[in-house]
Amino acid sequence: MEGGDAMIPHLVDYQLVMLVLLWLCLMVPHRWPSPTGGAPKTPTRPIRPKRKRSTESKPFAGLTQKPHCALCEQEIGARSPAPLRRPDPMPPTHRRPRTVDTSMHFCPHTDCDYRGWLGLGNLRANGHPSGGPWRQFHCTACDGYFPEHHGTIFHGKHAEVDLIVRVLACLAEGLGIRATARVFEVEANTVLHWLVEAAEQLRAFSAYFLCDLHLQQLQLDELYAVLRARKADAISDDEAITRLERSPYWVWTAMDPTSKLLVVVDVGCRTLAMAQRVVHQVSQVLAPNCVPLVLTDGLKDYATALLTHFGYWMHPERRQDKGPRPKPRWMPLPALLYAQVVKSYRRRRLVGVIHRVVFGTRLAIEQILAKCGWTINTAFVERLNLDIRQRVAAIGRRVNTLCQGEAGLRDQLVLFQTYHNFVLPHASLRQPLLIPAVTSGRGSVKVWRPCTPAMAAGLTDRVWSLKAVLLYRVPPWPQAQTV
Ligand SMILES: [Zn+2]
Repeated sequence: MEGGDAMIPHLVDYQLVMLVLLWLCLMVPHRWPSPTGGAPKTPTRPIRPKRKRSTESKPFAGLTQKPHCALCEQEIGARSPAPLRRPDPMPPTHRRPRTVDTSMHFCPHTDCDYRGWLGLGNLRANGHPSGGPWRQFHCTACDGYFPEHHGTIFHGKHAEVDLIVRVLACLAEGLGIRATARVFEVEANTVLHWLVEAAEQLRAFSAYFLCDLHLQQLQLDELYAVLRARKADAISDDEAITRLERSPYWVWTAMDPTSKLLVVVDVGCRTLAMAQRVVHQVSQVLAPNCVPLVLTDGLKDYATALLTHFGYWMHPERRQDKGPRPKPRWMPLPALLYAQVVKSYRRRRLVGVIHRVVFGTRLAIEQILAKCGWTINTAFVERLNLDIRQRVAAIGRRVNTLCQGEAGLRDQLVLFQTYHNFVLPHASLRQPLLIPAVTSGRGSVKVWRPCTPAMAAGLTDRVWSLKAVLLYRVPPWPQAQTV
C-alpha cells in the first residue's frame, strides 16, 4: 500500500470487501444447485466425472489360460447337424398364374426333400377345406398337405385367433396374468398356457431373425427382478446386493444403443458363469469379425466374459536370442474396446460416477461415441431396463404366483423382447417421410415413418403386428441366399 493520507478510506474498503466475501461464502452453497442433489430425471445425460489418471488401467498382460465358458464347452461337445443341401427350385408349370403368395411357407413333412425351405415353388394354395378359416397348402414334392398355421400356436386351438393375440398383447403391455384373465374372461391357467406356448415360438422367431448382426456398440446391464423383504434404507445397498447376488432373479440384458435392439435377455444369478452365458449368446448373434464397443456397469465379471469370447492367443517375441520361448498369452482382440461406468451410491443416492477403460484406449472409445454425440454411458440400457420393469409384470411388483420361478420369467421376457424389437415403433428411431402422407381420417398429415429396433438394425423392413409375428411360421434353419 502506498500514500498514507488515504489510509482510512482504504481500511473501510478492506472491511467492506471482507464482509462481502464472508456473505458470499455463507450464501453460495445454498443458492447453487448441488451437483449430486436430485438424481437426474432422465438417464439420457450421464454425469461426467473428473478425469483421473488412476482410472486408466495398466496395459493388460494377458492370461496363461483361456477362461472357462460352460456354453462354449457344450458346443464343442455337441456335433452340429450335417450341412443341408438346398434342393433345386421346382420348374414353373403352365397352369393358371398363382394368386396366393406361398413364398413365406415351407413343407413341414419330415420325409420331404423340400422340408423347411422357402421359395422353391413346391407349394400350391388349395383353398379352405370345409369352409374353415385356415387355408390349406399342397406340396408338389411330397404330395403332402398342411394348413397355413402349421407350427404356430394357433394350430389345434379352438379359441379365436384374435382373442389369443389380444391376451398376449395385454401381457406384452405389462398386465399380469390374472388381470389379463379377468379382462378377457378366460381361465388364468389358459392365459399361462398360451404364454408358455407363444414363448417357445417367439424364441424361435427371435433366433431366426437375430443373427449376423453388425453392431457398433453394445450396452450390458443386470436388473433385479424380485425384491422381497427389503425395506428402504433398513439395510445398506451393499448388503442388499450381497443378499441379492444369491437370488436367481437377475435379468441380464444386452442391447445396441444405436438401434435400441434388445440383443440378449436372460435370467440368472449375478455371477461370472452368468456373465459368460450372456456374452456367449451375444457372440453367437454377431456377424463374424464383428467386435462392438462394449459399455457395462462396474461388474468385474464382464471383463473376464468379454475376454473369453473376444480374445486370442498372442505368442510373445523372445526377449533374447537364447532361452525358452515365452508362453503364449490369452489377450483381448485388438479391436475390443470396453469401458465400465462405475457408480457409487450412498443411501440409495448416486454420489459418484467413474469411467473405467478396461480394454482399448479412452481415445478410441470416445471417438466411436463422439460420432453419436455421446460420452461413455450406460444410459440406454438403463432406460430399456425401466421399460422391462414397466412391461414385464413379474418384475418389480408383487410376485404373481402363476408366473413365479425362472421359467415363467423367461417366458414373459421373450415376449417383451419380440414385442420391443419387432412390434413397438421407437420414438427416437422414426424417420422423416420425404413426401408427407395424408391420413384417411381427420388427423394431421403424417410426416414420420415409424421404425422399430429390428428395422433400425436392418433385420426387417416393416413394423410387425403381434398377430403377424405369431402367425409367422419360423423355418427350421436359416435360408441361405444361394442362387
Ligand atoms: Zn413336401
